[in-house]
Amino acid sequence: MTALPAVHGVSPFLPLVVHAPHAGTHVPAVALETVLDPHHLRADLNRLTDWYTSDLFQLPGAALCATPVSRLVVDLERYTDDTLEPRAAVGQGVIYTHDSQGQRLRPELAPDQRRQWLDHWYRPWHLKLELDILGSLQRHGAGLLVDAHSFPARPLPNEDDAGRARPDICLGTCANTPGWLLDYALDWCGLQGFSVAVDFPYAGCLVPAVYAADRRVPAIMVEVNRGLYLQQPDPAAAPALGADYFRVKTALNTLLLGMVGRLLDFDVPADRYA
Ligand SMILES: [Zn+2]
Repeated sequence: MTALPAVHGVSPFLPLVVHAPHAGTHVPAVALETVLDPHHLRADLNRLTDWYTSDLFQLPGAALCATPVSRLVVDLERYTDDTLEPRAAVGQGVIYTHDSQGQRLRPELAPDQRRQWLDHWYRPWHLKLELDILGSLQRHGAGLLVDAHSFPARPLPNEDDAGRARPDICLGTCANTPGWLLDYALDWCGLQGFSVAVDFPYAGCLVPAVYAADRRVPAIMVEVNRGLYLQQPDPAAAPALGADYFRVKTALNTLLLGMVGRLLDFDVPADRYA
């Protein structure tokens, strides 16, 4: 079973922008040429892709920013300056040199090639994200930003959870996350029966710098444990949808609608489809 195709032809009419930066699986030929072993790349793509998040978090009427290009080409959730990017320390800055197992994936790119990749596959998507938010601000005076991800049920070799159990849902916060938004998401988790942690195993929420701490752009990261919606007994193998995929998707729809409702001051019961 695979996810259903996206709903097309619905222009954004809600003050909601969903950013799914890790849903892409496409590796252009020019990028594939730089890796040491294509099979190795495919195995890590299976481990690292936030599978189907561009469908899982899709809500008709919301703007969706989701590149088809894999994070193993450029990672849209990273700083372009490796000196600012903590994950560069493990070879996973904006352009990965190492995989999740700590193995060398590709040599460092030459400066010209690095700039080209960022110009082709990074900056246009960040510009789209900024324009999606701007469009919402122009239409509604506000734009709720949801940074949409999923995460492996068990930590990868280059991650350290300090022995803590991974939750069903991880909520990431930043200076753009108001209390009402976090409270709503926590209540939703409770009503849906999902275990939840805040800023664990992943912390923060990507917001374009131009909107940092802008109260018109409330933002939250929502990460779903892949064990909830995928069958992937071997994380290096391509997954199939789990039996609960559509239940989880419907539940996420109620979360997104409910948060928009709070923003617009109308009430969508958090247990609407529980
Ligand atoms: Zn992600």
